[in-house]
Amino acid sequence: MSDSMKAIVVERLGPPDVMQLRELSVPQPGPGEVRLKVEAVGINFADVLAVAGEYLTRTRVPYTPGMEFAGVVDALGEGVTGVQVGQRVASLGGRGGLAEYALSPAAALIPVPQNLTAAQAAAFPVSYFTAYHGLKTLGHGREGEWVLVQAAAGALGTASIQLAKALGMNVIAMASTEEKLQLARDLGADVTLLQDDPDRVQKVRDAAGGKGVPLILEVVGGKRFQESLDMAANRGRIIVIGNASREQANLRPVELMKRNLTVTGLWLTSLMGDQAATREAAQALTPLVASGQVTPQVGPTYALADSPRAFQDMLDRKTTGKVIIEPQR
Ligand code: NDP
Repeated sequence: MSDSMKAIVVERLGPPDVMQLRELSVPQPGPGEVRLKVEAVGINFADVLAVAGEYLTRTRVPYTPGMEFAGVVDALGEGVTGVQVGQRVASLGGRGGLAEYALSPAAALIPVPQNLTAAQAAAFPVSYFTAYHGLKTLGHGREGEWVLVQAAAGALGTASIQLAKALGMNVIAMASTEEKLQLARDLGADVTLLQDDPDRVQKVRDAAGGKGVPLILEVVGGKRFQESLDMAANRGRIIVIGNASREQANLRPVELMKRNLTVTGLWLTSLMGDQAATREAAQALTPLVASGQVTPQVGPTYALADSPRAFQDMLDRKTTGKVIIEPQR
């Protein structure tokens, strides 16, 4: 094996074309870490924001993006047990995934069910754990209840639709194009609506029995946030998961009083520190994925050198499902 590898490097933050393909040394796993030969990297909107310098936490440069990836374990650091060289795993919370080889804490590894491809495995952790926490841990969604899923054809959106249906909920899906709505319907969405439908607020309220939606997974933000408040039912729960519009939202707390609304923030990174919540999510998700009741939706796939184009396509809202980069291609 060569001791150098191809990797994406970001030296200054900005638009996707700041990402450069470089030759780096293959990293050595430290204590408690494993090294993966990376087969597939799941790209999240968070990666796009991190490269732009707009994420929740500061991005330190130089760095190699990629926090969610799947591949084959090829080296173990000191003290690692329970993982074998040659095993296919996914990592949630590793670093430097956009490379031929990357490190992950052994504790951040997720075993990959036999029935998943590497791309499906890389499409799984962030979107499905976030969807579970939005629907159940924080959203307290119940069987028979309506949920509104925004950006419904995206990675989180498709995961949220599948999971909500598997949990017996009714789904209203919103997205920007008819093609995206068709995907949402194919995945089981009960009602679909274009994001720019002029009557969207009333139509959403009507779809949920005329009383508004009890649970909203809010990922667009900006001026759309006020609309989510308007779409919510009395005692509605709005789970703030993202801000894809990258616009500021205004929240006047008195608005919440009118219909006894609850607005709850959700950040997977900080929830992962809650071991009970993570265990509960894993216990719920593992059988659903293993049985094929939910299937991670692989979107467009790109070679490592095309990472800037992959990020730009995501920003331009051209993608559906999880954007995947394949470093061994
Ligand atoms: P997606 O694959 O869903 O891609 C983003 C989608 O956002 C686009 O496809 C687009 O769908 C929608 N969108 C709406 N407005 C805009 C805009 N102005 N510019 C670009 N896209 C827009 O990405 P992810 O699944 O990775 O993430 C979806 C959202 O969930 C993001 O806001 C992300 O930050 C958040 N997220 C948060 C997590 C957390 O821990 N809090 C974890 C995972 C995701 P359309 O064209 O249909 O509107």
